[in-house]
Amino acid sequence: MAAVEERDVVILGSGPAGLTAALYAARANLKPLVLKGIDAGGQLMLTTEVENYPGFPDAVLGPELMEKMEKQAARFDAELLHQEATRVDLSTRPFGVWSGDEERRARTLIITTGATAKMMGLESERRLLGHGVSTCATCDGFFFRGLELLVVGGGDSALEEAIFLTRFATKVTVVHRRDSLRASKIMQDRAFANQKISFLWDTVIEEVLGDGQVAGARLKNVRTGETREVQASGVFVAIGHTPNTALFEGQVELSNGYIVVQEPTTLTSVEGVFAAGDVVDFTYRQAITAAGMGCQAAIDAERFLEAHGH
Ligand code: NAP
Repeated sequence: MAAVEERDVVILGSGPAGLTAALYAARANLKPLVLKGIDAGGQLMLTTEVENYPGFPDAVLGPELMEKMEKQAARFDAELLHQEATRVDLSTRPFGVWSGDEERRARTLIITTGATAKMMGLESERRLLGHGVSTCATCDGFFFRGLELLVVGGGDSALEEAIFLTRFATKVTVVHRRDSLRASKIMQDRAFANQKISFLWDTVIEEVLGDGQVAGARLKNVRTGETREVQASGVFVAIGHTPNTALFEGQVELSNGYIVVQEPTTLTSVEGVFAAGDVVDFTYRQAITAAGMGCQAAIDAERFLEAHGH
């Protein structure tokens, strides 16, 4: 039987947090192994223009930015594999990490598996993602100056996005599937007081309309069954996120599904296991904040290895 490979640093995930952790760990001569996962590159692979990542004054495409990050990590001998971790054992060090039948051991583990924005599940939504359909107002709101927008959802995220989008849009319509909001009272008060925001209750989007770029949506009233088409230049889907932590349940402390870290570090409840990016952070959720945390995680892992004589 082949010997089980043991690494100083194994990184799970390859969004901005994972690739920045890889860059830093590689430059510290730790030869990190990155298991990129199925959705390699993370949420930036689903966007087009990124104008708020510093260093790119003329904007950069999301997938191009991720390709650059990957190349930069690889240049310093990070090993990146298009594999997904299917099981981990965090009960003993070095930790067990499996990719199917292939077992590896990790002296430190950095979890950067991210979070996935929930989607409505429409084919048209998928097709127009990055072309008027967005899951991030902070990222994309700027592109909708002077236009009319739809926001889907009835929670705090939906209202926060709607309020933010009124800085750019002439009109924002919140489309909610029920007749009452789940959002906190304070956010409801703010949204109701905003002249640019209106609400469509008991309503779902049946189809996002547009050929190459969002032009509107076909809406359905779930009480009456009535359908109608409205014009809109963008559809912001704000129906929540799911942190990608199923693999770690019962092994590392989670809160609402997100990994808990001992701030200001990236240490989790398990010594030697660090976490960074959207799998931890449900507040900021930006590429730059994820990258920053990835850097912290690599430094934390490096110090941990040093303290343990590696
Ligand atoms: P959330 O509270 O789970 O709300 C999700 C909303 O999307 C709900 O209104 C839900 O409708 C709707 N929804 C879910 N699936 C849908 C679907 N398939 N089609 C149409 N609508 C759908 O998620 P969130 O708003 O992202 O908030 C998550 C957590 O973060 C909350 O605890 C929230 O308070 C917190 N948060 C706080 C702030 C803030 O304080 N500023 C900002 C953002 C988030 P139903 O209501 O019918 O279930």
